[in-house]
Amino acid sequence: MTLTEKLLARAAGKARVQAGENIWVKADVLMTHDVCGPGTIGVFQREFGRDAKVWDRDRVVIIPDHYIFTADSKSNRNVDILRDFAREQELPYFYDVVDDPKGGWKFDTSKGLLKRQFGNQYAGVCHAALAAKGHTRPGEVLFGTDSHTCMAGAFNEFATGIGNTDAGFVMGTGRLLIKVPETMRFRLEGRLQRGVMAKDIILHVIGEIGFDGATYRAMQFDGPGITSLSMDDRMTIANMAIEAGGKNAIFPFDARTAEYVEARTGLNGTRTSFDPVEADADQAFLSEHVVDLDRLEPTVACHPDPGQRKTAKELGSVKLDRAYIGSCTGGKTSDFVAFAQVVRGRRVVIDTFGVPATPGIVQELQGTRWGSETIWEILVGAGVRMTENAGCAACLGGPVDTFGRMNEGGLKCISATNRNFPGRMGHKESQVFLASPATVAASALAGHIVDPREYLPK
Ligand code: SF4
Repeated sequence: MTLTEKLLARAAGKARVQAGENIWVKADVLMTHDVCGPGTIGVFQREFGRDAKVWDRDRVVIIPDHYIFTADSKSNRNVDILRDFAREQELPYFYDVVDDPKGGWKFDTSKGLLKRQFGNQYAGVCHAALAAKGHTRPGEVLFGTDSHTCMAGAFNEFATGIGNTDAGFVMGTGRLLIKVPETMRFRLEGRLQRGVMAKDIILHVIGEIGFDGATYRAMQFDGPGITSLSMDDRMTIANMAIEAGGKNAIFPFDARTAEYVEARTGLNGTRTSFDPVEADADQAFLSEHVVDLDRLEPTVACHPDPGQRKTAKELGSVKLDRAYIGSCTGGKTSDFVAFAQVVRGRRVVIDTFGVPATPGIVQELQGTRWGSETIWEILVGAGVRMTENAGCAACLGGPVDTFGRMNEGGLKCISATNRNFPGRMGHKESQVFLASPATVAASALAGHIVDPREYLPK
């Protein structure tokens, strides 16, 4: 069996499963957020009763992150619904925006969009927060009401996005009927070269198979090239499996996975035990692809979908209006570090927005010095508008007052985010080009798309 089949067989209590089989699996964690949480709670209460209790309060994780830092009252109300539910159900893992369980969040205009407007429990973008707060463990099954839940496949677990109806059912029963996906294997060989990042790997792969090339399939990334990839790198890759239609992404377990998970679960008091899966010798794949990391170039996905692949070098004539670094895929500490290495001592020439994925990342950027300046100061000094309000922000457009949102048609943005269908970051006539943080940084300096290697020290 492949890694995904092994995980699902275990979760179904079976010795073997095969692709195409429908099986009931046990969930280890259910995650929901402010966009889908109210709908999920509505389904749960309608089907199980207003006074019903969730199947296991230690396994329901609620993370408001999408439409948070906005004066839009309907968005604010969504978080209030989550707060009320978490209090009623006594959920230990509700990462509220405010500290008072009976409180409410209100936009403070005197602070504006750049200064911190959240309490101590707030965790930021759900997928990054799940990992940082110790809710991702090898060998487990994670369901989340968000398509990028597949990011946790980096940790050798089965993680996939589900709709509110399924999530309401999981909330009541802890189980879900799943069709075992076929597995596509991506064997990584070699090592990334200077200026080429994990984002380039996944943009290359999606360009190869198309934005629907892995529909309802598991994308298994393995091979000797994996060993040099950090957990942040693996998360970047797994996150974007859904951009090829993938059901899930999955990575093998290794010492790096163990080190990351042990540190995060230990720090946050979540379950520390886990049981990874290893692939069998007789894995059967739907298809096998080899990715030679040594030969990859800085890559861009052009408007209007993540499969429109070109190299950065080929796109030098594309003039830009703005640049954006942030999201679960591209707003990690390592992403900002790569960005800062390019812009250090220089100035961006287009509007450039930076949104860290979690408050912990804000702290790391503000607490890490390169010489006399922190990384945060280097970014701000280069002209990047950095907000402390970690969250999804303009990755998903959001209400019109969302930080970094494209409110006008005709704008072209290069972005370290993961999705670029029309209207994704705001106006439906704006365009988004997806790229690595290094490519976004270099392009922000040039005002047009550029290969970041032109800006890196030799
Ligand atoms: S950062 Fe973007 S992709 Fe990630 S969860 Fe938020 S809206 Fe979705």
